[in-house]
Amino acid sequence: MLFAHFPDTTVEETTQSLYDRLVPGALDYYRRASYGRLTLKVDRVDRWLPTDRTSTSGDYDCSRFDTHRRYVAEIIGKVDNEVDLSDYDVVYVVGSRAPGVPNSPTLLCPAGEGVRADGREIRFAVTFGNDIRGRDWGWQTLVHETGHLFGLPDLYLYEKTNWHRASGAWDPMGLQMPGCHHLVWHKIKLGWLREDQAVVLREGSGSVDLTSVETADGTKAVVLPIGAHEAYVVEARRHGVGDDDPLGLLLYRVSSETARGEGPIRVLPARPDDGNPAWKRLFEVLYSALWFDGTVLDDTEHRAKVVIERRTDEGFRVRVER
Ligand SMILES: [Zn+2]
Repeated sequence: MLFAHFPDTTVEETTQSLYDRLVPGALDYYRRASYGRLTLKVDRVDRWLPTDRTSTSGDYDCSRFDTHRRYVAEIIGKVDNEVDLSDYDVVYVVGSRAPGVPNSPTLLCPAGEGVRADGREIRFAVTFGNDIRGRDWGWQTLVHETGHLFGLPDLYLYEKTNWHRASGAWDPMGLQMPGCHHLVWHKIKLGWLREDQAVVLREGSGSVDLTSVETADGTKAVVLPIGAHEAYVVEARRHGVGDDDPLGLLLYRVSSETARGEGPIRVLPARPDDGNPAWKRLFEVLYSALWFDGTVLDDTEHRAKVVIERRTDEGFRVRVER
């Protein structure tokens, strides 16, 4: 983690305070969410590194690949003599609060277009901008952006109204603020859960015991493919981020042909939202997504049905019919 000071700004924050905003919460999140399977280790150069130009010069425009890469390359160049960069997979650059760096994008370089240092090509970076100073936009932002480095898409919608109506905050790639667990679909992709912890049913019927996403063991999802590129997924989630929050079932539809920002994952809520401000704060929209009993899914066209049979100690027993 490197800290970039733009000359058009006066630094009022310590690098320690920014590290504290971004890192300890993320380490804790990954311990919890990955069941200890991912260990993030963040070393830092604990001082401000002055940039060559002002934040608004256009040379650090993080919305364009070439200038975004140049920004990262310049900062890496400033520590190349003192840090052995061959030890690192990812570079996090934290900018001083500055008019030219409003947000915190990920830099993903195609092979051959990364930044060369100490015999290594660095292809993965995040440049943190002003947004990390906002409430609930510290370590949660690091988790969201690092999710992109791991290959996960944005689940919020790239449109200016109701951004979060596709997946709410049920995954940090949709809405990062509450720091909810990643969806089981993503946890399997990340290797935090095994593929055989999802029951995939194309035909036939049976009962499945689903256990809550907070624990590592047991069956975590029912996956019902409804075509070559689409599936329904049901998993057990809590209505909140505490261990005592009510447990229910979350139903969503995954489309591997839908682009990021266009809703590759869409949660199908159990009820319309009722304006409850407590849940709204956590989930923005789709906070009424969980099912607690009855029929969760009944898609006659695709012959896909899921009914809650009963609550169990660790989750739910569901009846699945194709
Ligand atoms: Zn994103």
